[in-house]
Amino acid sequence: MIASVLPTYNRAPLAFERGEGSWLTTTTGERYLDLGAGIAVNALGHAHPKLVSVLSDQAGKLWHTSNLYEVPNQQKLADLLVANTFADTVFFTNSGTEAAELAIKMARKHFYEKGEKDRIRIISFDGAFHGRSTGAIAMAGSEKMVKGFGPLMPGFTTLAFGDMAALRAEMGADVAAVIIEPIQGEGGIRPVTDAQLKELRAICDEAGALLILDEVQCGMGRTGRLFAHELAGVTPDIMMVAKGIGGGFPLGAVLATEHAASGMAAGSHGSTYGGNPLGCAVGCAVVETIADPAFLGEVNRKSALFRQGLESLVARHPEVFEEVRGVGLILGLKCKLPNSDVVQAGYAQHLLTVPGADNVVRLLPALNIADTDITEALTRLDQAATSLKA
Ligand SMILES: *Cc1c(COP(=O)(O)O)cnc(C)c1O
Repeated sequence: MIASVLPTYNRAPLAFERGEGSWLTTTTGERYLDLGAGIAVNALGHAHPKLVSVLSDQAGKLWHTSNLYEVPNQQKLADLLVANTFADTVFFTNSGTEAAELAIKMARKHFYEKGEKDRIRIISFDGAFHGRSTGAIAMAGSEKMVKGFGPLMPGFTTLAFGDMAALRAEMGADVAAVIIEPIQGEGGIRPVTDAQLKELRAICDEAGALLILDEVQCGMGRTGRLFAHELAGVTPDIMMVAKGIGGGFPLGAVLATEHAASGMAAGSHGSTYGGNPLGCAVGCAVVETIADPAFLGEVNRKSALFRQGLESLVARHPEVFEEVRGVGLILGLKCKLPNSDVVQAGYAQHLLTVPGADNVVRLLPALNIADTDITEALTRLDQAATSLKA
């Protein structure tokens, strides 16, 4: 008999009841140190006092009206994002997948309204993850994710990750946009180099195509900058954001330049819940907190501390780990043993990590993880690695 919850996940037998900072407590009262943060979602940890207070306060006032009316919290969050990024305009969604859908629509519509109706193709890179909708799986082109769900939406081409020569060869008058994660998350914490990102920008400019960055996982302070592309000094035309921006409340966004968004007139897109008062109240508190240079400075300091410990962990356990990947607090341990074994061994030490592709264990802690919790995490990772050698 099928499970009452559709069995699309192989779940760990852990159920959590409450959380505080980087710690989660199970329904049976056991404490776990959380290095997954709900896959880079709980950017400020669990039950952050400011987020709890902002959400409770808004919950007592107003939950939902509709995008038929002005939504003051939405306006405030859009203004905050515009003030702190390349973007001129923002559309709010409830998830990263919905942001992917709008990114596709916005890019195609841009050229359609300019009279370039055949410019519909979007180029992506393998190992990418852009969400689970039919459009997002067609765009990422992963064999595993598309299997059985065809026919796929046409108009996408997937190239080898970071292959700029292949990209140059593919660019033509039918290419509307190129999409890339500056650091692949699901793909196993695989960054493109700053030089590659600069070249990507140049290739798009030469071909008159738009550059879409998917910063759903690597954005919102994870790299020690508000957004990952700032490290390369390159700006996109369109950017997808979700996960961390809601701190655990479902919230996503598409940020765009005025130029890229020029096709999106009234009536061209919409959302019932996107940009609702609850999500945007929390989003404002999250963005105000993370965009503070002092906060980002702390992310970089914590990253250095964590990374140093991880490098010595890898050196102590060369038969378990191969290398440390990533920047800021979007880190990965490339494993020699199966990554699922490492994640399991972590559970035994009451430590939560997240598997990724390419046999990587992802470490995506709350951005405000305490230094003492970093030390504790390193101890538990060491114990987990030791247990695998026994
Ligand atoms: C998680 C993720 C998505 C999809 O976001 P959802 O909120 O799960 O729909 C898209 N792109 C990247 C890079 C992600 O990590």
